[in-house]
Amino acid sequence: MTDSTVTINEITKSYGTTTIIAPTSVTVEEGEFVCLLGPSGCGKSTILSMVAGLSFPSTGSVSAGDEVITGPGADRGMVFQNHALLPWMTARGNIEFGLKSARPEYSSSERRTIATQWLEKVNLSHAAERRPARLSGGMQQRVGLARAFAIDPSILLLDEPFGALDALTRRQLQLQLLQVWEASRRTVVMVTHDVEEAILLADRVLVMAPSPDSTVIADIRIDIPRPRMEDEQGEHAGRKAELRQQLLDLLQH
Ligand code: ADP
Ligand code: MG
Repeated sequence: MTDSTVTINEITKSYGTTTIIAPTSVTVEEGEFVCLLGPSGCGKSTILSMVAGLSFPSTGSVSAGDEVITGPGADRGMVFQNHALLPWMTARGNIEFGLKSARPEYSSSERRTIATQWLEKVNLSHAAERRPARLSGGMQQRVGLARAFAIDPSILLLDEPFGALDALTRRQLQLQLLQVWEASRRTVVMVTHDVEEAILLADRVLVMAPSPDSTVIADIRIDIPRPRMEDEQGEHAGRKAELRQQLLDLLQH
């Protein structure tokens, strides 16, 4: 397997005369779960899309392992906030199509087997043959996750994947994501503007300042053992409250 470290090396991003992202450097280690936290419009999606190879820095570079990213690749899987499913394909069809594009080495029966396994893991076996219009928002988002996980990328990129969901569905999917991550230990970079989500999921939280001239202003390690459920009376409740306050203060900076 290729080295799945992500290195963001002194990148900037400008549109015309506006500098959205001022010089920023970040390293995400192999197998690490990192959240990029910041106010709306600060450039989180911009940075993630550079790691995905869908856009490029104005200066500086982004690398996966030793290789500078020059476009999308099967080593990196992306999940978008609006799930971006193909509306004319079923849940299964979307997962198989993702596999066909990213993993041309698989036969159609292999694609079918892998899609079946992932539909099961995200509890969607019963809805495999439905099109997106007949799936709830949470179910569509689960298809998006399954599609990304099925290609088995060594780096998983998640752009506010649960942002549009109700609280209960959101929590269920966060826990499902954690389960899958704990079993596979892929490198994850996840964008969120939700402090609670960052504390629940991340090994490290990178906090960004508001735009323009945004950059990473803090790198906070979430030093609470998992699982980190909602147990506010638990042994780590104090530390959790401290981290929450620290992150909120940084966001208001
Ligand atoms: P976030 O994901 O943190 O909410 P984005 O990365 O989507 O923020 O956007 C960062 C900033 O870049 C925003 O202020 C947005 O208006 C600006 N921006 C994004 N794309 C373009 C573009 N194509 N042209 C001009 N400005 C853009
Ligand atoms: Mg965004």
